[in-house]
Amino acid sequence: MRRLSLIVGAVLFAVSCTAGEADTTTAPSAPVTTSPPNTTTSTVVTPTTTTTTTTTTTTTTTTTTLPPTPYGVPAEPRPDPIAPDPGVSDGFDGVGVVTVGAGGAPLYEALDDEEPFVLAREGLMFSAQQRQGEWIEVYTTCDELAWVKADTVVARPPAEAASIGAGFDFAEATIVVDPGHGGPWNIGAASPSGLAEKTVNLDIARRVRDLLSEPRSVDWSTGVILNGTDIPSAGWVILTRAGAGDAGDYEAGLFYRSNLANAANAHAMVAIHNNAGWEIRMDSPGSDVYYQSQIPESRRFAKIMVQELLRGFTPFDANWVGALETGAKSRLSPRADNPQYYGILRRSDMPTVITEGVYISNQSEADLLATAEFRQAYADAVYRALVRFLTTDDTGDGRDSDPVIWYGDAGRGDARPSCVIPSQDPTDQ
Ligand SMILES: [Zn+2]
Repeated sequence: MRRLSLIVGAVLFAVSCTAGEADTTTAPSAPVTTSPPNTTTSTVVTPTTTTTTTTTTTTTTTTTTLPPTPYGVPAEPRPDPIAPDPGVSDGFDGVGVVTVGAGGAPLYEALDDEEPFVLAREGLMFSAQQRQGEWIEVYTTCDELAWVKADTVVARPPAEAASIGAGFDFAEATIVVDPGHGGPWNIGAASPSGLAEKTVNLDIARRVRDLLSEPRSVDWSTGVILNGTDIPSAGWVILTRAGAGDAGDYEAGLFYRSNLANAANAHAMVAIHNNAGWEIRMDSPGSDVYYQSQIPESRRFAKIMVQELLRGFTPFDANWVGALETGAKSRLSPRADNPQYYGILRRSDMPTVITEGVYISNQSEADLLATAEFRQAYADAVYRALVRFLTTDDTGDGRDSDPVIWYGDAGRGDARPSCVIPSQDPTDQ
C-alpha cells in the first residue's frame, strides 16, 4: 500500500507517540477449541511383522506414537493446482465463480461477437454475473465485463452462508487470499535495493494458501504450526492472482478482487501487503492491519491479525520503523458519506482486512522479506489469525484504534487501460 509519509490534517488523528509501545503479546488470549494448547494429537504408526511357520502364524504388532512434526519453512510455495477439465457447468445459474478450464477459455466482448479478444489462461478465476444459455457473463481481472462459453470453464455457486465464530466448521470455510499489486505498472512499494512489494506479497499469499489447503495443528503456546489434523483444510481457498511462478505477476483490479470474493460469498478475505512511508523508529515491528468500520467483525479480525503478526515477527531482528499510530486501524474517505478509504475494504461484503506486515521501504525490514523464513512467519501468522477469527469468539489482543478520515493518497485501485488479461497463448504476452 503506498501512502504518504506526510500526514495532512493530522489534527483529526488521535496522535500519540507509540515508539516502544507496540503490542508484543506473544500468545493468543484463548486457544481455538479444536486445538487446545499443549495437547499433541499424534500419528499412530503401526508396523506389522508377520512370521509364518509350517504350523502356526504369529502376528506381532507394535504401536509407536510420534508427536506431530513442525510444518517448517518450505523453500518455495507449491505450484498452483492443475487446471480442472472444463465443461462441468450444468445447472449453474450464472451467479458464483468460474475457473478457466485446462486449455484456456476464449473471452468475447459481446454475445454475438465471432472472434474472442483473448484466450484466457487456464486456472484464472472470474466472478460470474449472469448466464444466458451456453454463455456466462464474467468480470475480468481488468475490471471489465466479458462473455465466456460455459463448456470452457468450471462453475461453482457461492459458498453457503454460515455464522463465523465459535462452532464454525473450518472445513466449510471459504477464504480469499489477495496478494496486493501485480503486473508491470503496479509493483506496490519497493525496497531501496529494488525488492518489489508485489513479489513478496504473492509469495506470502501462496504460503497462506498452502497452509489452508491441508489439515494442520497449531501449538498455540508457541504459535508453531504442525503437520497435525486438529484443524481441517479450509473448504475453498481462492487466490486472486493465479498461476505458478512469474505467471502470477499480472495486474488485477481492485474491483475484480472484491467482486471475486463477493461472488464466492467468502467468509473472510485477507489482502497481503507490506508498507512504505514510515514515520518513526520503533523497538518492535510496526505492523498495521486495516479493518472495515462498516463490518464490526472486521475489527475483531484485524485485532487478532495484529497480535499474530507481532508474535510472528518479534523474534526477528531489524531496525524496525512504524507509524505514529500502529495496529488495527481504519481509514475513512474525506467524501461526505465517509465510506472506507480503501476500495477493497469498501467493496467487499465479508469481513476483510489489509495486512501491512512490515515496511519494505526500510531496507532492514526488506532484508527480512527477502528470506523464506520471514515470509513463512508472515504466512503462519495470517493462518493462525484466520483460524482464530473464524472458529472462536476471541476478541484479539492487538492494539487498535477508531476510524479516522484519511487525506493521503493510496493511488489508483481500478485496472489501468493498459491492463492485459493473462493469455493461454504465449504469443499474446
Ligand atoms: Zn501494498
